[in-house]
Amino acid sequence: MEKIKMTTPLVEMDGDEMTRILWKMIKEELLLPFVDLKTEYYDLGLEYRNETNDQVTIDSANATKKYGVAVKCATITPNAARVDEYHLKEMWKSPNGTIRAILDGTVFRAPIIVKGIEPYVRNWKKPITIARHAYGDVYKATELKIPEAGKCELVYTKENGEEVRELIHAFDGAGIVQGMHNTEKSIRSFARSCFSFALDQKQDLWFGSKDTISKKYDHTFKDIFQEVFDTEYKEQFETAGISYMYTLIDDIVARVIRSEGGYIWACKNYDGDVMSDMLATAFGSLSMMTSVLVSPDGVYEYEAAHGTVQRHYYNYQKGIETSTNPIATIFAWTGALRKRGELDKIDALCKFANQLEKACLMTIESGKMTKDLAIISTLEEVAALNSREFIAEIRRNLEQILEG
Ligand code: NAP
Ligand code: MG
Repeated sequence: MEKIKMTTPLVEMDGDEMTRILWKMIKEELLLPFVDLKTEYYDLGLEYRNETNDQVTIDSANATKKYGVAVKCATITPNAARVDEYHLKEMWKSPNGTIRAILDGTVFRAPIIVKGIEPYVRNWKKPITIARHAYGDVYKATELKIPEAGKCELVYTKENGEEVRELIHAFDGAGIVQGMHNTEKSIRSFARSCFSFALDQKQDLWFGSKDTISKKYDHTFKDIFQEVFDTEYKEQFETAGISYMYTLIDDIVARVIRSEGGYIWACKNYDGDVMSDMLATAFGSLSMMTSVLVSPDGVYEYEAAHGTVQRHYYNYQKGIETSTNPIATIFAWTGALRKRGELDKIDALCKFANQLEKACLMTIESGKMTKDLAIISTLEEVAALNSREFIAEIRRNLEQILEG
């Protein structure tokens, strides 16, 4: 078989630990034999980030802006222990945070559904994608412990010095207070990313907040979404046969549980944090979640939702074969290749991405899977393979599919 040609490079962001090992295996076994892979390579492994004072992360994000599509391996976000372990010059910021800030994007997470790994909610048949706003609210809040009785106010000082004051609470004893913010610009970008992604996926968009209680804060989210929808997306949604629904977050939660899935759920920052963990667990496993960062102007960065699987890597280093699940990382590659194929009109590339995904699902459905899935599988006959054996099985199935 002739290898599939690419015209524009993918931005390839390599990463750390166990996922870096899987990255190489995936390329060697499942991609390079079939695709004339064209990538612009950035090594986001912690050692090279440290060597370049994290410039490589910034460069990779700018390259993503230039080319439009990136695929990223999981990376270490340094903490104090990592500073010692890797002899870091400083505690570099989270690469995902840096990339997100440069692309101004929203993260969409969706489960990979496969027979034998059953969601805890039995009526969920299709994936539910969570779109989490990644700026502001409680994540950028200022807090105070109130030690004793006293008055607490919100004060806004305009540039001309004029003040607007609002009483928060007149304390008669100790308490706590929190001030948080968001910006119209960020909320508008979030809305655009959600509407664009819904069109891209041809799925309905749901958005909920607590506007009945938070009549200015949450209500502003609701109003901006509605305005962006009415002025920029309404007709495109009609043409695509999809819809936008806003309702109270309480109502959304009830609808989500009763639904069969197959839509995108936009969440404010905190809701998205909590609800995406809830969904990942309810659908079965974090190692079966895909994640894509979409910027409001339509730039895509694909990755796995899990981390670098540190515990497995330490075993690997001791020479112990590990059973780390490569599926989410493979799907990051297929997502990126398919998007590249769509943008460059290379049907063969899109087709290959679909076939590779199919080979992954076939392998798991035939009872061959990594340990994390074997533990929860409802199939009768299950074999727990190590990563290398599992990827070899996927390759066998892929070759069979490609031969037709
Ligand atoms: P993790 O890599 O997500 O792994 C936590 C645990 O979940 C693992 O120990 C393993 O459980 C299970 N697991 C996760 N992915 C798996 C897979 N593909 N196959 C099988 N089991 C899997 O989180 P972590 O170990 O707490 O974090 C390690 C590093 O990842 C940290 O330095 C963190 O900064 C980084 N991180 C990066 C990203 C990112 O780049 N997007 C996201 C999160 C965390 P068992 O040990 O029970 O088998
Ligand atoms: Mg969380």
